[in-house]
Amino acid sequence: MPTQIAPPFADRSELLVGSVIDASTALLAEQQHDIVRFAMGAPSEDLMPIAQLDEAFTGSRSGRYDYGETEGEPRLRAQIMELTSQRGIETSDERLLVTTGGMQGLDLAFKLFVDPGDLVIVEAPTYSNGNATALSYGADLLPAPVDEDGLIVEALPELVARTGKTPRAIYTIPNFQNPTGVTLSLRRRELLIELAERWGAMIIDDDPYGRLRFEGEDLPDLAGIAPKHPLLFQVRTLSKMIAPGLRTGWIDVDPAVRALAVNAKQAMDTCSSVPVQNAVLNYLTSGHFETHVARLKPIYRERKAAMLAAVERHLGGLATTTDPEGGFFLWLTLRGDAAGLDTEALFPAALRDGVAYIPGPAFTVDGSMRNALRLCFATSSPARIDVGVSRLASTIKRAIAA
Ligand code: PMP
Repeated sequence: MPTQIAPPFADRSELLVGSVIDASTALLAEQQHDIVRFAMGAPSEDLMPIAQLDEAFTGSRSGRYDYGETEGEPRLRAQIMELTSQRGIETSDERLLVTTGGMQGLDLAFKLFVDPGDLVIVEAPTYSNGNATALSYGADLLPAPVDEDGLIVEALPELVARTGKTPRAIYTIPNFQNPTGVTLSLRRRELLIELAERWGAMIIDDDPYGRLRFEGEDLPDLAGIAPKHPLLFQVRTLSKMIAPGLRTGWIDVDPAVRALAVNAKQAMDTCSSVPVQNAVLNYLTSGHFETHVARLKPIYRERKAAMLAAVERHLGGLATTTDPEGGFFLWLTLRGDAAGLDTEALFPAALRDGVAYIPGPAFTVDGSMRNALRLCFATSSPARIDVGVSRLASTIKRAIAA
């Protein structure tokens, strides 16, 4: 076979930047030594309802192995409507499409609304796979800053004016944002809807963590403020509440949008796995789901507190962090003598020292935020969190001394 012939890649293939986060999973899998894993944003095995999921899979033997409806299994959609109404959100069957994880929801959103060169507002920092998906459709990403109340929506008109373009989409993670853990305030939620209307831009509302609030009061979802708004594209997933390997999520969108999303999904994968959907349905109707989520909350609350305490203990004066009220992540910014360090450059040493995180630049469009990093507190026990943060502190202190 001739090896010198190059495959004729489409120009579009140059837009596929890959995922720093997913690459780090492979890197971590290769390591032989003990590593405290603050890198991945996934529930640990012991916090996945494995036995009940196994039961849900065997209990769905009667499930079909044929193609299913692209929209998703009708009984699962009914169950999703139930979950949505528990959040106080109005929806209806013709708004829902079951997706292969939250990622497919994001892919559908950017595919339907972004042409090459279109301006898409993204949070800075934000979930890197979200940026990567937007980029794969040629988006011109406009990073917009985030503070402890989420995306600084008030800053958007001026940032947008400087581009000379009108945004086509605003990608936001309103609750316990990935990677910072911050939550968009009510006033900003209202303003965001106003701005989207002014610009005729889609709001891509990505909310994998919203039900995992372990402190404070729930804020209304964007769809609670603007029910059934045609510019709202809600992306949801069970990955963080149940288990990511199920690859089960959904979108909740205007019926006209759903009609096109169905066509797009037919051109991707026809339908999400039917036996998996049936197992998820069994699990959701087993009554274990609510108990499971209720059990997770105090565990995550304790883990977050353990991480804040460990940062104070081992990195006092060298780092500040956010203080999330839910979700999986906190964002650590180096300061003082550590302020000039580069978390990407530091990563190999940290890994050797037995701790893994995701460096800040992975979450930005321009490789900035080099003195910051994301820590996932959800995956490790409080004792392991202390070990991990103390290892991170040794790496940082060694780098300062060097
Ligand atoms: N959006 C955000 C903000 C996420 O954190 C994740 C998972 N890391 C996803 C989407 C993707 O979800 P899924 O694994 O269900 O595709």
